Amino acid sequence: MPVPLLDLQAQYRPLRDEILAAMTRVADSQRFIMGPEIENLESELARVLGVRHAIAVSSGTDALLLALMALDIKAGDEVVTSTYSFFATAGAVARVGARPVLVDIDPATFNIDPDQIAAAITPRTKAILPVHLFGQSADLDVIMRDAERHHIPVVEDAAQAIGATYRSRPVGGIGALGCFSFFPSKNLGAFGDAGLVTTNDDALARRARLLRTHGMEPKYYHHLVGANFRMDALQAAILRVKAPRLAAWTAGRRVNAARYRELFRAAGLDGVVTLPAEPTDRLHIYNQFVIRTPERDALKRHLDEQGIGNEIYYPVPFHLQPCFTDLGHVRGAFPHAERAAAESLAIPIYGELTADQQQAVVSAVASFVHSRSACGISARQP
Ligand SMILES: *Cc1c(COP(=O)(O)O)cnc(C)c1O
Repeated sequence: MPVPLLDLQAQYRPLRDEILAAMTRVADSQRFIMGPEIENLESELARVLGVRHAIAVSSGTDALLLALMALDIKAGDEVVTSTYSFFATAGAVARVGARPVLVDIDPATFNIDPDQIAAAITPRTKAILPVHLFGQSADLDVIMRDAERHHIPVVEDAAQAIGATYRSRPVGGIGALGCFSFFPSKNLGAFGDAGLVTTNDDALARRARLLRTHGMEPKYYHHLVGANFRMDALQAAILRVKAPRLAAWTAGRRVNAARYRELFRAAGLDGVVTLPAEPTDRLHIYNQFVIRTPERDALKRHLDEQGIGNEIYYPVPFHLQPCFTDLGHVRGAFPHAERAAAESLAIPIYGELTADQQQAVVSAVASFVHSRSACGISARQP
């Protein structure tokens, strides 16, 4: 039984009529830029995320860029962030001319190691940028404590973590600014690119809104040099159909994660492949379900042959990327991130996944492990 990594059709089918009606509403209005769809989406998402301000933007990448611009971060400044994330996190820092100061991860959660942040802070540090990777919050209390001690704002990269909580508080509203992505493969996906910036700070919200439209207020009077970071009204209309379903979709992903834990245990694999850690003080929304094994590359080849969807997130940490050689890091600088890059593999976790499909995924992993031990190769390495 082939199982895709993600099945967007399964989510779309039951919503098709409602989504096409929303798209028709925008087409009939011929209002494509800003307007009521954007305003309604912003107030609906602000309520869901428990924040004063939600600012709809063109992508998750632009959300990060806009957040850093709202904080006036520029050349000569430093931003402390994780070396292990999607490229946009460090890319946005470099794009405003600042230097990404990289920190290793906690191998249990794949998130920035909070105990290594203090040592990375210098007088030039203008923000700390933790990522809630794969849908699980970083250890925000420790991060916020360091940030407050040094009066440095925290920008949360919550692109993969909409609806995740840390000690019962939704992520994105804990730091000074939160950044979300509605890329189609995220838990709340648009029909193209879209994103969101959140904040509880009225002044930062005002700056972010200005910067979103070339710093313009009123028309053709420019107070700041911003850019065009607007979300399309069409994307907002589509997201308004999907957003009320997010909590149910998250619950579905969490049910699937719990079922994987049972199936891996029943197959005798829970010590052979490492399953994602789930600290009890944070709600994981499982944008990805990432397992680890030292034989990752061979497992990947096996799953590919069996038609089981899988993906490596991410094969190269920032400090080893060709575009960041000028940061001067060598291989071995951040050993936990390097090991995660060599060992991690995402398997299907989307909400519409069936128990039979999950069994097929686990059986495929089991047949790999058994074939390896039959050859005298232990699946578990020291
Ligand atoms: C997806 C993602 C982004 C960027 O979002 P886009 O909407 O694709 O621009 C940023 N950070 C992380 C961690 C992401 O996963």
